[in-house]
Amino acid sequence: MSLLDASPPDETTAGWWDATRAHRLVLQTCTACGGQQHPPRSVCLRCGTTDGLGWVPANGSGVVDSFTVVHRAAHLDAAVPYVIARVRVAEGPILLTRLEGRPVDAWAVGDAVSLAWEDLDDGRALPVFHGVEGGRAPDAHVQHEPTGQTGPHEER
Ligand code: ZN
Repeated sequence: MSLLDASPPDETTAGWWDATRAHRLVLQTCTACGGQQHPPRSVCLRCGTTDGLGWVPANGSGVVDSFTVVHRAAHLDAAVPYVIARVRVAEGPILLTRLEGRPVDAWAVGDAVSLAWEDLDDGRALPVFHGVEGGRAPDAHVQHEPTGQTGPHEER
């Protein structure tokens, strides 16, 4: 069972999910203004158009924007602890995802990460991220949201 939400595709998200079947991470991209957004929506958040929203491949690199270590899983059969994170991909949008491949206490905001995939039973896949050896991205900058989750916090 996946630890992240894998809701059924709908009219808006079907293109995104289809790409995951081939392990391609795509970003919804507006042909009118060039804006990119995630998760997929029926309207461009930048210019408001509902036409011309298409898919452009992401390069698969990113930076940890914030994360939390989960000690008590929402699913009884999930192995804990695990790390849920916001990853800002190189193109700009943020993905809610999971960090894997390191002990849960070995992550830091600003860590450089690269894309990996967790296959789902129905043929779709979820993007997860692994750490890039060498640590922090050279251009890593921590962006603070106005409402302010500024760093890792434990969830019980
Ligand atoms: Zn637009």
